[in-house]
Amino acid sequence: MKVSFHGACREVTGSCILVETGKTKFLVDCGMFQDESSVFKNEESFAFNPSEIDFVLLTHAHVDHCGRIPKLYKDGFRGKIYCSQPTREISRAMLLDSANVFLKDKKISPIYFENDVWGVMPHFQYLSYNKETAVSSDVRIKLMDAGHVLGSAVFEVLIGKKKMVFSGDLGNHPAPIVKNPETVAGADVVFLESTYGSGFHEPRESGREKLKQAVIDTVNKKGVLMIPVFALERSQEILFELKRLLTKGEIPSVPVFLDSPLASQVTDIYRKFANLFDEEAMALMGKGEDLFDFRGLKFVKKPGQSKKISKMKGAKIVLAGSGMCDGGRIGGYLKKNLDNSRNRLLLVSFQVEGTLGSVLASGAKEVKIEKQRVKVRADVSLLSSFSSHADQRQLAEWVSKIKNPRPKNIFLSHGEEKSRLALKEALEKELKINCCLPEFQKEYGL
Ligand SMILES: [Zn+2]
Repeated sequence: MKVSFHGACREVTGSCILVETGKTKFLVDCGMFQDESSVFKNEESFAFNPSEIDFVLLTHAHVDHCGRIPKLYKDGFRGKIYCSQPTREISRAMLLDSANVFLKDKKISPIYFENDVWGVMPHFQYLSYNKETAVSSDVRIKLMDAGHVLGSAVFEVLIGKKKMVFSGDLGNHPAPIVKNPETVAGADVVFLESTYGSGFHEPRESGREKLKQAVIDTVNKKGVLMIPVFALERSQEILFELKRLLTKGEIPSVPVFLDSPLASQVTDIYRKFANLFDEEAMALMGKGEDLFDFRGLKFVKKPGQSKKISKMKGAKIVLAGSGMCDGGRIGGYLKKNLDNSRNRLLLVSFQVEGTLGSVLASGAKEVKIEKQRVKVRADVSLLSSFSSHADQRQLAEWVSKIKNPRPKNIFLSHGEEKSRLALKEALEKELKINCCLPEFQKEYGL
């Protein structure tokens, strides 16, 4: 059996692992490259023949995991894509949005079009969690909740007597809305993400406190609180947290705008799959509460409305994409508001090196946004507690529970070099399990 890595080596985007059993060839994820240094790889041909791939196991709907699936289809793939039901629905929204971005953004050449997304959608087949399914003559699979975003899955893959486990992205528990990542009983080989392999999150409670203070401070100064968000999970989580603070009377009522049509669409899909929420969220839904709506909140649909919101006087909170400040509607708000000390920027997501978000997080006093130089006088802070990725401690703890059998090997992907190196060191020292840092497109025998 052979495995090779076609993305997410020394970086956090482009997840794509090829497994060849001798009888079956399949991929785990087929994501888009989003790092500035590797985005050109999206346009390159796959290093394997897409028409020979029997199926894809899709861990979740983030574009860095599903974003090259329509290209795979365009290049000849006709197999099934196995995933959870929310992943299928959210992927449709995310992929159609990407196809649209390709057309609008002159810097990116389209790697597929809307018709490719519609072409591949019937190939998505959803499976329930915790149910073993035979997907080829020698491969059986089981999805388990990864607790990262709604619908995210860890895949257990049984090939003969060998058990492989693919973590996808693992959640930072306890998180609101989604359940905690499920524990895997045993594995021979584990493929583990390492986004925060060198990091430790601050406790969620301190993140909530900082969010609360940021809102109070913004209202007192009659400023603008800008929160760049990803459409999937972070938007729903921040809405949930704001509603919680408001309900408890810990923050005053203030106009809040979710200026992202994609985030609004994903929020609707969340409402549809409330049966997969964690206990707290389910209990609130049971009382008839809408977790993602509250007094003062407006879902902004039309692009023209952003300008009107910008002109509105008084304190306000704006949630807009992209989560790393590169592109999306947040750019307009940053240009207008960064140079005023009454305003605040709260970064609540992982900021890939080189993105505008990472430059702002590092304390830059001046930045360039869409060719315009902007002085940074607003308060900028980065909160890691809202991350939807497990940190080093949580990753090690998750692996330590895999006991029957204990894995002999762990492949670390989906992390920048310093992260995967630090995680390798921690896992080898604490758990005495050999870790491999895979190279792009290199084959490994199993
Ligand atoms: Zn993810």
